[in-house]
Amino acid sequence: MVNFPQQICNWINGQEIPSQKGAWFTKLNPCNGQILSQVARSQAEDVAIAVEVARKQQVAWSEIPPVKRGEILHDLVLGLKARQEEIAQIVAAETGKSYASALGETQGAIALGLFYASEGQRLYGRTTTSAVPHKHALTVRQPLGVAGLIIAANTPIANVAWKVFPALICGNTAVLKAAEDTPITAWIFGQIAQAAGLPPGVLNIIQGYGEEAGAPLVAHPDIDVISFTGSTAVGRKIQAVAGPSLKRISLELGGKNPLVVCDDADLDNAVKWTVLSAFSNAGQRCAAGSRIIIFESIYDQFRDLLLEKTKQLKVGPKDSDDLGPVINNRQLQQMLSAIATAKAKGAKILIGGDRLTDSEHKDGYYLAPTLLENISPEAEISQTELFGPIAILYSVSDFNSALALANNSPYGLTASIHTKNLHRAIRFCEKVQAGVAVVNGGTYGSEPHMPFGGFKQSGNGTREPGTEALDVYSELKDIYINIDPNFV
Ligand code: NAD
Repeated sequence: MVNFPQQICNWINGQEIPSQKGAWFTKLNPCNGQILSQVARSQAEDVAIAVEVARKQQVAWSEIPPVKRGEILHDLVLGLKARQEEIAQIVAAETGKSYASALGETQGAIALGLFYASEGQRLYGRTTTSAVPHKHALTVRQPLGVAGLIIAANTPIANVAWKVFPALICGNTAVLKAAEDTPITAWIFGQIAQAAGLPPGVLNIIQGYGEEAGAPLVAHPDIDVISFTGSTAVGRKIQAVAGPSLKRISLELGGKNPLVVCDDADLDNAVKWTVLSAFSNAGQRCAAGSRIIIFESIYDQFRDLLLEKTKQLKVGPKDSDDLGPVINNRQLQQMLSAIATAKAKGAKILIGGDRLTDSEHKDGYYLAPTLLENISPEAEISQTELFGPIAILYSVSDFNSALALANNSPYGLTASIHTKNLHRAIRFCEKVQAGVAVVNGGTYGSEPHMPFGGFKQSGNGTREPGTEALDVYSELKDIYINIDPNFV
């Protein structure tokens, strides 16, 4: 097992610094409830120091040409690559996911870093025409200043990379508030960044709880852009706090994603993708498929196949397991309570529904993969994200009812349809209210070079990553140059 400090500090100005008050919180291993580390419990004063340092470094960082900034970020990517096994071990230990899946996530973070490091050679503006003779019109991208980055714990190294690389390539410095459930991943990223030669103070990492360390970052007057990945409830609070200051906000929020199985679907393929969509990463994916909408003519057949496949899933932290624990006991209890409420209102539990209490699992936060049916689309459990291995099955009569049900949600992040009918597939992609639409696959996030984000309450309209993230982290400036041919 990789070594990491007993005490995980903040990274401020290239130094590991405990919180000003000297307070700590405990990070537990979700597989067995044992202590992994003590973590700096930062407050507003720690955030203020980090923001001040980031502000001081911003001009110097922004004056490094973007191509050179890209080279520095490329060195950071090489550092991540050289230590990918260590990173994956930390991700696995903190989240309870298997090493293989943590390594895959780490490699995704590396791919994203490579994409943005190269973006230093592009950062394109536009040149265009003018209505006025001898006037030239062009646009350039400029940094905003200091970026406040706040992330969720579900895919910790990907979430760090997703924010840090685009923020820095655009010439901003940053203060990252790590997720309290995955502090060590953020810590090792900070260490690798220092070792790779990222100038001190360009990336500062604050550990702590949301209300104590995240909220002061959002409210800080010297932060120019907040980019947040997390729940819709917290996104709403951030919008309310940051709104009056008019600082830019990018919100990447939750989902309750539909996967439609039509009567002409390849059922084996649909079952495979339903299981992956609902249960991979223990359902802790904003893109998870948690509403499975099935044509009534194949409902029983599909449900039986799905149940059979779900029964075979292995739960645990090993590479041979299919899903691990959820991140903490609080989230586990919320899921159990939502299932109990639905059951009391008539929901049928097809499989799962309980915490695993056998000797192998009893100390971890393991929920059995859960499938429910006989639930109204209007019920609270249908309309609320649970962020765990829980999916609900609904029966519909035809395509139009399936589409209407898919869109009957406050969220609009991802959606998938399984059909061999081109007309249905394209109509679904046109009409489904989601930032990502998939045909004959899972409800999944985007590749690093593609924009990801949601309709409705899944976000506020921004898209990260892809080149679209550059719009989050930079200002566009028009430049007009008038020349006089008489002076040639
Ligand atoms: P969360 O909203 O509880 O916490 C996310 C982060 O916000 C944490 O770092 C937390 O400390 C911080 N935070 C909490 N309260 C805050 C406040 N008042 N001010 C500032 N920061 C605060 O979410 P979670 O349970 O950690 O993560 C799961 C959620 O994240 C799900 O809703 C999931 O769908 C969403 N998510 C979205 C995406 C996306 O790209 N759309 C990706 C991953 C996860």
